[in-house]
Amino acid sequence: MYYFCTLHYISYMFNQLKIWKRQGKQYITDVTTTDVPGVFRGRPEILGEPKDDAALRGLCPTGAIGFSPLSIDMGKCMFCGECAFAAPDLIRFSKNYKMGSNDRQKLIINSSVRPEDDLINPDAIRAEIRRLFGRSLKLRQVSAGGDGSSELELNATGNVNFDIGRFGIDFVASPRHADGIVLTGPISRNMAGPFKLAYEAVAAPRLLILAGTDAISGGLLADSQDVDRSVLDGLHVDLYVPGNPPHPLTFVNAVLGLLGRKNR
Ligand code: SF4
Repeated sequence: MYYFCTLHYISYMFNQLKIWKRQGKQYITDVTTTDVPGVFRGRPEILGEPKDDAALRGLCPTGAIGFSPLSIDMGKCMFCGECAFAAPDLIRFSKNYKMGSNDRQKLIINSSVRPEDDLINPDAIRAEIRRLFGRSLKLRQVSAGGDGSSELELNATGNVNFDIGRFGIDFVASPRHADGIVLTGPISRNMAGPFKLAYEAVAAPRLLILAGTDAISGGLLADSQDVDRSVLDGLHVDLYVPGNPPHPLTFVNAVLGLLGRKNR
């Protein structure tokens, strides 16, 4: 019996090694420096000031474009790319996925923001956040009228490619087991109450992360009578993660930046 078990174990290990050899490493070894393949609109770059801004006035469906100076508010931007098509000499979308910030103002990109600038403001991070959650962070996701896209991308952060679990960051089933809430969606009226309930079920000091344009500003639905964002009044937002939906690399890098993790 002993020999049978040993042989079975060796055969199992051999098969596992064969699979590993065939598939190689599936995870992204460094989520901070990897390139995003294919088409991806990341952090916008403002290349100059318009002499005539007529082509851009009234173009943006969410009013994300500001003037004097020219700017794009990533918290409102749907990343449709229309402004870059209309004024390619003034606006360009880079592949930089590091767009998350703990400072709402830093989501507004103008020509003075350099592509390599870190948008995380360490001085604005609550003192206890890095001490308590720097090595282990459990998050509960709440979709408040979301369309499923941001939720899918958050789900992808745990897959074999991005593997957010390797940093000690996990999504959990109950707010009672969580250190913070990740909110997606514009906050529909019927989800405002459940979101508040989930938020209050997390023990203090709790994190609040707004993931995606809809959660940050309401997006296209900001002015809808069926959206109630007043529930956010008075709540401290620890992290804004832009994108429509946010790329998993945007989310992973934003959270690692908030936690001050070097291996990000
Ligand atoms: S890419 Fe963003 S800023 Fe430009 S038009 Fe679309 S939503 Fe507006």
